[in-house]
Amino acid sequence: MCDRNMKKAILTGGSRGIGLAIIKALLADGYEVWYLSRTPISEEIAGTAHHLSCDVMDRMAFEKALKTATEEAGEISLLVNDAGITRDGLIMRMKDADWDDVLKVNLTSVFLSCRALSRQFLRQRYGVIINIASVVGIVGNPGQANYAASKAGIIGLSKSLAKEFASRNIRVNCIAPGFIDTSMTQKLNEEQKKSICDKIPLGYIGDAEQVAKAVRFLASADASYITGQVLAVDGGMTM
Ligand code: NDP
Repeated sequence: MCDRNMKKAILTGGSRGIGLAIIKALLADGYEVWYLSRTPISEEIAGTAHHLSCDVMDRMAFEKALKTATEEAGEISLLVNDAGITRDGLIMRMKDADWDDVLKVNLTSVFLSCRALSRQFLRQRYGVIINIASVVGIVGNPGQANYAASKAGIIGLSKSLAKEFASRNIRVNCIAPGFIDTSMTQKLNEEQKKSICDKIPLGYIGDAEQVAKAVRFLASADASYITGQVLAVDGGMTM
């Protein structure tokens, strides 16, 4: 039986943006974190965050890094899937690689990490999985068929696992951020940002810390009766 006070987390991505904010929030909550990304965090942070350099598109390297992280950590209580990319374009012009890469990074990596951790979580009879989806996976977005499909896939995958694992006290939830100020959205010009803000009831683009706070909640015992849910952190965009 897992010691439920054991605060050890594995996170994909995490080198910047939302994932970095999640790592900082988890460290502040007393977690020790192992994060898997191609590049390490480039700033000083307080707490213990171990970097395992890996491209989640490289299945063997990813599975090896997950194994290393679980061996180093021993018991794991939390898995957060944050790694994600966009390769936007209208479907008529979308290249096979744009589809394949987005599905591999955003969705297949979630399948692989959940599968890799499932045995341990089931044995422990405890575990929390939080997958970072997107509002786009709920409402769709022109020019993002690949991204929307990957994020909708994460939601279906998470709900299925929530049902598969519930009897073993393993909770699986998604967070669906709206527009959040990170390198992913910094490519937008001022006009695009204004038009986005017009569609957000709260009227502004969110920040990564606001998403991290939702992760912190879902990871905590305060969320012990919540599984199979998609929590939108989107300023009201999808209500
Ligand atoms: P960033 O581009 O700032 O960060 C993306 C993270 O994913 C980085 O840590 C990056 O690490 C990691 N990553 C990307 N590709 C790979 C790969 N092949 N292997 C390993 N790690 C990888 O984006 P955000 O912080 O904005 O996005 C984080 C998550 O939130 C994503 O899943 C995204 O889809 C989702 N999201 C973001 C929204 C937003 O508005 N920003 C809205 C809705 C959802 P590295 O490059 O070092 O490998």
